[in-house]
Amino acid sequence: MKSHLLQLFNEYSDGLRTLVFPRYCIICEDELNRNREHFCVQCEANLHYTYFEKYSDYTFADQVFWGRLKIEHVFALLYYEKATSTREILHHIKYNEGIDLANYMGKMMGERLIQSDRFSTIDVIVPIPVHSKKEFSRGYNQSQIIAEGLSETIDCHVVEALYRKSHDESQTRKSKDERFKNVKDKFALRPNALDDYQHVLIVDDVLTTGSTLEFASRAIYEGGFQGKVSLSTIAVAH
Ligand SMILES: [Zn+2]
Repeated sequence: MKSHLLQLFNEYSDGLRTLVFPRYCIICEDELNRNREHFCVQCEANLHYTYFEKYSDYTFADQVFWGRLKIEHVFALLYYEKATSTREILHHIKYNEGIDLANYMGKMMGERLIQSDRFSTIDVIVPIPVHSKKEFSRGYNQSQIIAEGLSETIDCHVVEALYRKSHDESQTRKSKDERFKNVKDKFALRPNALDDYQHVLIVDDVLTTGSTLEFASRAIYEGGFQGKVSLSTIAVAH
């Protein structure tokens, strides 16, 4: 009885909140029903999904890393260039209702990724660390929040196994080679952080050239990790 009353109260206050603070779909900007978060039904259905979870073979996202280093599998939820909706989402994650949306996208990523056998042995999620200054100005690490949303659906721990080694200040004054070296040295693996795990999933918001994810993976191998490394992002550029 008590819980029924509580539920009624929650529904009532939820309705009241929506009445006072209406929320809008971030794609079409129509007002949202109170049971919706971030997207209306149509816009969520019409996002440009990759459907990578339906592939049993490699995709072009896997091929990004061929000849560079050993990556087990690569997942991405959405296509990037084809869809302004994807850009809108990434922009919101960075600048607007970031935390809630990043978490929501992480969950959405998990619901699809879990349908693929290729990711069934993953036992830990590692977010890309952000530059401490950027994180400070935004108030959160978006990859970390995406990872936490994902962990709720695939039931794996998030471990902040990577950290940034050096600040890349005054990059613009450096030559291309120096910049490359600088980027290459960005990440390192915390000692023993992944000792109990066999298959790591590194998470970031977007996969374009793959260099950030490559350096993160390299840091994990160079830190002595003997298991498999896979990658997952909200969006992939095609
Ligand atoms: Zn909409």
